[in-house]
Amino acid sequence: MSFATTLRCRKCGREYPLEPLNLCDFCLSPLEVNYDYKSMAAKVHREKLAKGQFSMWRYRDMLPVEGEVVDLGTGFTPLIKADNLGNEIGLDHLYIKNDCLNPTYSFKDRVVSVAVTKAREFGFEAVACASTGNLAASVAAHAAKTNMKAYVFVPANVEPGKLVGAAIYNPVLITVDGSYDDVNCLCRQLTEKFNWGFININLRPYYAEGSKTLGYEVAEQLGWRAPDCVVAPAASGLLFTRIWKGLDELSMLALIEPVNTHMYVAQAAGCSPIVNAFQVGSLHIHPVEPNTVAKSIAVGNPADGYYALRVARQSGGGAAAVTDEEAIAGMKLLAQTEGIFAEAAGGVVIGVLRKLTASGIIKRNELTVAFITGAGPRTQDIVSGVVQSFHIRPTLESLEEVLKVPV
Ligand SMILES: *Cc1c(COP(=O)(O)O)cnc(C)c1O
Ligand SMILES: [Zn+2]
Repeated sequence: MSFATTLRCRKCGREYPLEPLNLCDFCLSPLEVNYDYKSMAAKVHREKLAKGQFSMWRYRDMLPVEGEVVDLGTGFTPLIKADNLGNEIGLDHLYIKNDCLNPTYSFKDRVVSVAVTKAREFGFEAVACASTGNLAASVAAHAAKTNMKAYVFVPANVEPGKLVGAAIYNPVLITVDGSYDDVNCLCRQLTEKFNWGFININLRPYYAEGSKTLGYEVAEQLGWRAPDCVVAPAASGLLFTRIWKGLDELSMLALIEPVNTHMYVAQAAGCSPIVNAFQVGSLHIHPVEPNTVAKSIAVGNPADGYYALRVARQSGGGAAAVTDEEAIAGMKLLAQTEGIFAEAAGGVVIGVLRKLTASGIIKRNELTVAFITGAGPRTQDIVSGVVQSFHIRPTLESLEEVLKVPV
């Protein structure tokens, strides 16, 4: 039994049963899983959690699932102290949460593990999703693991490595002429036609909860404390809000002190509707037409943008965007200081971190966590320009020629 009680509308507070529902009938706002935190608090302790398995499922009591979970071994990824990168950009206590190290190479495994578990519980005949690439791979992999059919929809301009990265698990893979927002719109229509569990549409409230484990893990890995600053990428904005919710729940459960974390949204300048709204002091998002190499976070009309803005605002954080050039520089910097090859979304995070630090918004002594949410090797074309090697004959003389040192 989980401690989840109802789905609750984030705007008007109306409650709904724990079913595959996404929006409030009354005000069309997103629904969120609501828990019996009192009973949860009686069961969840630091010592007990510390003895759990080394995956996101060590926090099972804080997630809305009932039976056996569909798990590929996701989560409890490394939180590394990034001293080299910190030195480079002027931070004394910088950490990288490296979520490249999940089974399908992005943080999406967290949300999908919860959502596919729910799809099976609800008895859907298949799972499906609208994706910019990473979600498709994760849904297909989890469906394979639990013997369900998967229908995954991606924009036709998705990177070739992301296509193969999903196709290998043998889903029904459909590429759509249009942007992610077009794909999403099509999938919304399909929820009414098929008995499929759309991981990020009709199962979205459950999907969302998986991201809380990023907040839980970071706090536990820091010795049960929240960071001073968080920099995280936003596509729909959901992940960003759930890192915050994870930290907030821990303090509600008295596992950490009251949270005082400044939350900063990172987006690519070629698709920054949330950052744009933050900068003009508005809570209203104007959709944009994406144009950036950071395709995995290129969502022009972010469903949870409003809530991400509120978290950035209320936490005393902020929002910033970087150009593709700065994002690529961020990818190189992360790889060349910390040995982590992230995809462009990670480059955006590092670029934004650098910008916020240079302008004094994030201060040298603040304990800062940068969230790296997806791995680089599937989108390596973006940085193909870095390739430089020396070609030699298998002789000492030939090596001496290129190294220009005596061998
Ligand atoms: C999906 C994704 C995100 C953010 O997703 P949200 O829609 O904002 O929850 C961030 N980084 C990567 C690499 C992603 O694939
Ligand atoms: Zn409502």
